[in-house]
Amino acid sequence: MKKAMVFLLMLVMLLGGCRAARPERHDGKLNVYITTYPLYDFTKKIAGDRINAVQIIPAGVEAHDYEPSPKLMTKLEKCDVFIFNGGGLEAWAERIDDSLADNGVVTVNTAGGIARDDDPHVWLSPLKAKGQAEKIYKALVKVDPINADYYSKNYAGLKKKFERLDNDYKHTLSQAGSRDIVTTHAAFSYLCEDYGLKQVSISGISPDSEPSPKRMAEIIDFIKKNNIKYVFFEPLTSPKLADSIAEETGIEKMTLDPLEGLTPRQKAGGEDYFSIMEENLSSLRRELVR
Ligand SMILES: [Zn+2]
Repeated sequence: MKKAMVFLLMLVMLLGGCRAARPERHDGKLNVYITTYPLYDFTKKIAGDRINAVQIIPAGVEAHDYEPSPKLMTKLEKCDVFIFNGGGLEAWAERIDDSLADNGVVTVNTAGGIARDDDPHVWLSPLKAKGQAEKIYKALVKVDPINADYYSKNYAGLKKKFERLDNDYKHTLSQAGSRDIVTTHAAFSYLCEDYGLKQVSISGISPDSEPSPKRMAEIIDFIKKNNIKYVFFEPLTSPKLADSIAEETGIEKMTLDPLEGLTPRQKAGGEDYFSIMEENLSSLRRELVR
C-alpha cells in the first residue's frame, strides 16, 4: 500500500514536471544518477571526475529491497543521464524510464538485450558486465562528445580488465573437480553459464523469497549427496538460512558476494567490482578445485 502511494506521488510529480528545462550546470559537468554500485563503479572508471556521479542505492542496502523517495524523483527529473540495471532488479526504475526520457533525461537500461526477463544478475558475468559498461560508455560519448577521447581511452582500459577477469575465471574454474555450488539467492546463473557451473540456491531470484520447508530439505539432501563443503552466504542478506543449512549438514559457510551493493566496510576498505569478483573466484576455488 505504502509503495503504491509513493509510486503514485512520483508519477504525479513526473507528469507535473514534464519537459522541464535542464538546469544550468555551473561546473559544466554532466549530472549522472546511477542505481547500483557495480554500475557506479563502471561509470566512474570511464568518466572519472569529468562528471558528477551519484550512486542512488547507498552502501549497506541490498538492491532488490530499495525503494526511491519522492525527493530522489525530483532530482532524477533534472539530471542529464540516468543509468540503471534493468531486468527487473529495480522495478521502480523501469516504471519511470519512459517518463524521464520524455522529460529530456538520457536513460540507460544497461541489461536491456543482455538479461533474460526473469533474471537481472548480468553484472556477475564479467563479459556481460562488459556489455553493460559499453552501453554506459556509448551514452556518455553521445551526451558529452567534448570528453569523448577521455571516455574512449578509459573504456579501452576497462574493457581489458573485464577480459582479464574472464580469463582468470576460465583458467581457475577449468581445474574444478566439482561443478555444483549452493548459494543463498539465485544470483549466479549467468556466471555459472559462462564457466560451466551449476547453482543450487536456497532462495529464488530475490533474497526476500523465503524457501519452503520442502526446499530446505532438498538443499540439505543435495549437500549430503554431492560432497558440498561450503554453503555460500551474502554480506547484505541475513545469514539465517545459510546458518541453519550449515548447522543441519555440518558444513561451513563462506562468502560469495552477489555485488548488489558494497558493505560500508568494503567501501571504507577501497574495494571495487574487480577486487570483489577476484575474492569470489577465491571462494569458488576453495569449494570446487580440491
Ligand atoms: Zn539478486
